[in-house]
Amino acid sequence: LSDKLGGIFDKLKRSGALKEADVSAALREVRIALLEADVALPVVKDFVEKVREKAVGQEVLKSVTPGQMVIKIVNDNLVEMLGGEGKTIDLAAAAPVPILMVGLQGSGKTTSTAKIAKRLQEKEKKKVLMASLDVRRPAAMEQLQILGEQTGVATLPIIAGQMPVDIAKRAMTAAKLQGFDVVMLDTAGRLHVDQSLMAEVVAIRNAVNPHETLLVADALTGQDAVNVAQQFSDQVGLTGVVLTRMDGDGRGGAALSMRAVTGKPIKLVGVGEKIDDLEEFHPERVASRILGMGDVVSLVEKAAETIEAEEAEKMVRKMKKGQFDFDDLRSQLRQMKKLGGMSGVLGMLPGLGKMQKQMASANIDDKLLARQEAIINSMTPKERAEPRLLNASRKKRIAAGAGVSVQEINKLVKMQKQMATVMKKMGKMGKKGGGLPLPG
Ligand code: GDP
Ligand code: MG
Repeated sequence: LSDKLGGIFDKLKRSGALKEADVSAALREVRIALLEADVALPVVKDFVEKVREKAVGQEVLKSVTPGQMVIKIVNDNLVEMLGGEGKTIDLAAAAPVPILMVGLQGSGKTTSTAKIAKRLQEKEKKKVLMASLDVRRPAAMEQLQILGEQTGVATLPIIAGQMPVDIAKRAMTAAKLQGFDVVMLDTAGRLHVDQSLMAEVVAIRNAVNPHETLLVADALTGQDAVNVAQQFSDQVGLTGVVLTRMDGDGRGGAALSMRAVTGKPIKLVGVGEKIDDLEEFHPERVASRILGMGDVVSLVEKAAETIEAEEAEKMVRKMKKGQFDFDDLRSQLRQMKKLGGMSGVLGMLPGLGKMQKQMASANIDDKLLARQEAIINSMTPKERAEPRLLNASRKKRIAAGAGVSVQEINKLVKMQKQMATVMKKMGKMGKKGGGLPLPG
């Protein structure tokens, strides 16, 4: 490992910070890319401004241009914005859990209802009842019934002449009596958002109090997506979005628009007409598709990886000597903060990934990571390099400096000792890796 990487490191010193002019130039391109991907204009404006504030002053990695660096920052922010909590359908409520599907006509509500029902039934082993509340479009109810027969998901028997609210109530009652876990309510849409549609959906919502209200939206709708999402979000209230036709030619800018306007996660995406054409939403993939600059992003990622490799190399050298002091621990903590505790320097060394994961799981709390780093920052360089210097009075001084208790310092010292022990063993084992004794 060390020899192979050795040559690269000399080249990799970080260069300066991003200047306003560089950021602006790159963001002009980003703006065009986002508009071409059909992200709604107000969302583009907001997003670009947010990124501008974040980007100026950030470090540029050596071997990438400022423009490339900005694209990477944009990409990361896109991923962050698209992602977020609550990506799966939430069924944590008393059965039967009502799920309400809303959206414009032709957006894919009925198809998505059946897709999701099948998925919940197969993957989550839930007993699902589907009911069509679409009394407007001829044969809408039969469409759902046929999908039910195809997928083996139960549908509520059709009774002609009933109003949507009554059908919804009947579905809930039937589900209760027959022991269903989930009730999926497929509503009627309109070509455009109008008051009668909203009034109908609100009445249904009030009647069943849905646990999830999912807006089904066509990824190809583009600029209009914001308006639709806004109306449903304001008037009905949403818990998530299902984005359909992601198999189409579009770059999927609607994903960003939807997310920005509703503030709700994109829970699933439709990728075709077939029942199994339903996928989880992958923020990274969609971000790269929206931005259309995947090459640049991976280039910058490689540069960043190489710098991580440089740190890994340093670690390897120390490991061979069986050392692991507080400087090493601090750089680990920083890595974990940066990388969300998943990979990082240790993850790149054979056999150490598991240990790092364990460290990470003990440190999931960002605040804890920050406090631990503060403790190490309060040490003198000498103390960092020679942990055995830490006696009671030094600990007291550090505790005061970092604003923590001496117990916390002791915990950190214990962590450092455990790591050092493992390092020594690793050093002796050479490159064998695997089956390491784990600390803690
Ligand atoms: P609804 O009016 O909202 O209920 O929409 P439907 O579920 O009836 O779907 C309208 C059309 O879009 C149908 O022909 C579906 O097969 C098609 N459709 C739905 N979801 C997708 C998707 O993810 N990809 C593609 N290509 N077609 C879809
Ligand atoms: Mg329908």
